[in-house]
Amino acid sequence: MSGESAKVFVITGPSGVGKGTLIKQLLERVPDLALSVSATTRAPREGEEDGVDYHFLTEDQFQERIGAKDFLEFATYSGNHYGTLNSELDRCLEKGRSVVLEIEVQGATQVRAARPDSVQIFIAPPDESVLRERLRGRGTDSAEAIDRRLKTAEQELAQQDDFDHRIVNDDLDQAAEELESIVRGAVGPEA
Ligand code: ADP
Ligand code: 5GP
Repeated sequence: MSGESAKVFVITGPSGVGKGTLIKQLLERVPDLALSVSATTRAPREGEEDGVDYHFLTEDQFQERIGAKDFLEFATYSGNHYGTLNSELDRCLEKGRSVVLEIEVQGATQVRAARPDSVQIFIAPPDESVLRERLRGRGTDSAEAIDRRLKTAEQELAQQDDFDHRIVNDDLDQAAEELESIVRGAVGPEA
């Protein structure tokens, strides 16, 4: 998966739908893929490492990077800023590696405009109640934060038809299979 076939894959969908879980499986199934590390002003969760899970920035640092036009896209989500740094993308693409962005829906829409050649994949839940169960089960967000994320999810789900591909993450293995097949289909047989 290198050279001219290097692609940008945008994986989006509501919080708790299983994007992170599916991407982890995707990276095991297609090891040549690189994952872009986003910047955020959100506080690190327990176990999260700066430069690995996110580039954790202060509000001032984030605004400075916006001013310097360092972001391919950025958005405010649940009271915090998140963004994809152009340098992250370039770092991967320059090595000829396809790159995966795990981002929310506003950012995905910006990437579609900036890079129409990107492959956009929306991960949907089997139904909305599953999102609450998964967010609760994950145990990383307060009850208030979960409510905020579920409210945003309603708006995000309303946009799912705008994306190139839609995968329902009900059975994890089946969803991972579908994701792998979309990615391999886009990069060609040598992947
Ligand atoms: P996101 O990255 O979209 O916010 P996560 O990958 O963190 O979501 O998944 C949220 C929770 O749901 C995690 O606890 C994860 O283990 C669980 N999960 C993900 N996919 C499935 C699935 N297909 N069936 C059951 N639980 C799942
Ligand atoms: P979390 O706080 O759960 O890590 O992420 C919250 C939301 O922000 C998730 O939907 C996640 O996909 C999204 N997100 C993570 N990084 C980025 C990014 O660089 N840009 C945008 N627009 N969203 C992001």
